[in-house]
Amino acid sequence: MTWIPFNKPFLTGRELDYVRQAHENHHLSGDGPFTRRCHAWLERRTGCGKALLTHSCTGALDMAAILAGIEPGDEVIMPSFTFVSTANAFVLRGGVPVFVDIREDTLNIDERLIEAAITPRTKAIVVVHYAGVACAMDAIGDLARRRGLVLIEDAAQALGAAYRGKPLGSFGELAAISFHETKNVISGEGGALLINDARLAARAEIIREKGTNRSQFFRGEIDKYTWVDVGSSFLPSDILAAFLWAQLEAADAIQARRQAIWQRYQDGFAEIERAGRARRPVVLPETTPNAHCYFLLLADAAERPRFIERLRRDGVHAVFHYVPLHSSPAGRKFGRASGSMSVTDAISDRLVRLPLWIGLEAHQEHVIERCRHALA
Ligand SMILES: *Cc1c(COP(=O)(O)O)cnc(C)c1O
Repeated sequence: MTWIPFNKPFLTGRELDYVRQAHENHHLSGDGPFTRRCHAWLERRTGCGKALLTHSCTGALDMAAILAGIEPGDEVIMPSFTFVSTANAFVLRGGVPVFVDIREDTLNIDERLIEAAITPRTKAIVVVHYAGVACAMDAIGDLARRRGLVLIEDAAQALGAAYRGKPLGSFGELAAISFHETKNVISGEGGALLINDARLAARAEIIREKGTNRSQFFRGEIDKYTWVDVGSSFLPSDILAAFLWAQLEAADAIQARRQAIWQRYQDGFAEIERAGRARRPVVLPETTPNAHCYFLLLADAAERPRFIERLRRDGVHAVFHYVPLHSSPAGRKFGRASGSMSVTDAISDRLVRLPLWIGLEAHQEHVIERCRHALA
């Protein structure tokens, strides 16, 4: 029996050529020629004002929390149904995550519940575009502007996706992208901070360069560099950027192949949904997702362990996530829930993610057939 893993990183075949070039360039630290190419690509494709590669999306979120000026006691509104880094970045600055429930359809933060979570201490709203499906950016953008809050997009999963035709990552003052090997476009570990508020750009460079004005120095804008602000080392080596460049060049092809796999699942489970056995992802007309992940919501939480176990016995590795942050030990210690978390709790117990990687095509009929069988 062939074992079908949950994820299999896709390699374009050009990665090592570019890594070799980076080696030959003798520019191995950050911000070399490959990093510059990646920055230009990200700026062109997302329409963001400025892109900066980081060593992870987590690192980009850490930078966003510093740039947003989060101070101890400041509240940051976010969904509970997300990866820990969304919250940790702000907790590290002394911020308090305030968790808001998600929508039943997109599993994104419920924009109608955000206003009730705002207090005099609220500083920022962090949206997460789950599975590359856009949050309701019109309403959330309006609300953030009206209430004077910083808007940050955790766009870790969202490179290549759009809302009303506008790329995700271009809505918030700041956005964070991930190139972790489980995402669509990868460098093993990796990420980027996208900066749409020009006033934050200069400080972002400084924070990323250990609190120094070294980037300005290298551009010849000043004659010596020095310590000017807080910061850390958030920039990746140009070797990693070289690897990433091979992936960015192939981003459209990667996207197209993932889209075909996603659609085959969506068509393959139409009958299962009609029979009420499981629900498929909902894609609203104003959103253009990027086929980041495919999941089913089972009718009943008690079925999930059995379903995953049956697939495992059939050689298919299916997984679930997230354990909601509001009920996790650290979430309870550092944050609080605003209102009911009933959708988050109900969804997170019923969600199952299926394998989605380039090359799965040859096995996908088997996966679909085994899922149907397990849900029959
Ligand atoms: C993957 C992911 C992250 C973390 O990305 P890293 O690059 O691994 O740090 C953060 N938030 C969300 C929503 C993610 O899916």
